[in-house]
Amino acid sequence: MIALDSLPPLTKVIKDFGLLTQKTFSKSLGQNFLLDPGITDRIVQVAGDLKECDVIEIGPGPGGLTRSILKQNPHHLYALEKDPSCIAALQSLITASQGHLSLVERDALKVSLSDMTQYPIKVIANLPYNVGTLLLLKWLKNLERIQTLTLMFQKEVALRITAQPGTPDYGRLSILTQYLCHTERIFDLPPKAFIPAPKVFSSVVHLQPKPLSLKEKTLIPWLEKVTAAAFNQRRKMIRVSLKPLFGEENLQEILDKLHLHSTQRPETLTLKDYCALAAFYHNLELSKA
Ligand code: SAM
Repeated sequence: MIALDSLPPLTKVIKDFGLLTQKTFSKSLGQNFLLDPGITDRIVQVAGDLKECDVIEIGPGPGGLTRSILKQNPHHLYALEKDPSCIAALQSLITASQGHLSLVERDALKVSLSDMTQYPIKVIANLPYNVGTLLLLKWLKNLERIQTLTLMFQKEVALRITAQPGTPDYGRLSILTQYLCHTERIFDLPPKAFIPAPKVFSSVVHLQPKPLSLKEKTLIPWLEKVTAAAFNQRRKMIRVSLKPLFGEENLQEILDKLHLHSTQRPETLTLKDYCALAAFYHNLELSKA
């Protein structure tokens, strides 16, 4: 059992290391800290049992969420932090963790998570908003050994990730993420839950990678191409946006097979429809090779 009772309060850590002073505070690093252990414990609860896996946290900051993760006794916790001031502030937590916490002073955008450990991985993070979507897209490219991802995004991004067809938030991010993972928006937090308060609401999203066959994995780049073509011209009918990929005749044939209408807009097609279009496009390209 890791004993964290002797640690100074987070407000003192922030003050002692000047994490919110103008000199060190970095808006560009998306520093909106969570200090209420009730909230950080609740986030960690979403990730389930941590004992049989290694946890990777992105951006521990002053260490509030990090403390909540450690309380659940993960096999090991790797915390990736870019800001040297936060690294300095976390030293007492390293000591208290009795070898269960490794701080990695690196840019999370440049790290491959599956290279960090051979254990099953759970990712837990209150993500820096400015790179949240970029990080997710990077992780989706290699979900090897990742059991779950429990991530705080700005609410607008969380809505896009979990959106269903026919809604304004539905788009490429929804389709790609939902092809690869079960997705669920678990709860929202108001700006005042953070210090400093951001301008927008935030949401915790839980992602669980789906076990995909090799054939299903082969479809990913084709799904990306088809959704890019469809949603880059979101207001256009699919007859127009998808024609450059398929050609008019092929497109009509596949749309008929899928019982889709050429005048539909991209947000009305389901994940299954996009998968069928991607498979068709893949075969079409293979036949040309
Ligand atoms: N986990 C803390 C919490 O919940 O209070 C801090 C979360 S704060 C939203 C984001 C954290 O990510 C900051 O500590 C920031 O320095 C760090 N960060 C920002 N960009 C990063 C990057 N590219 N790689 C690693 N850490 C980053």
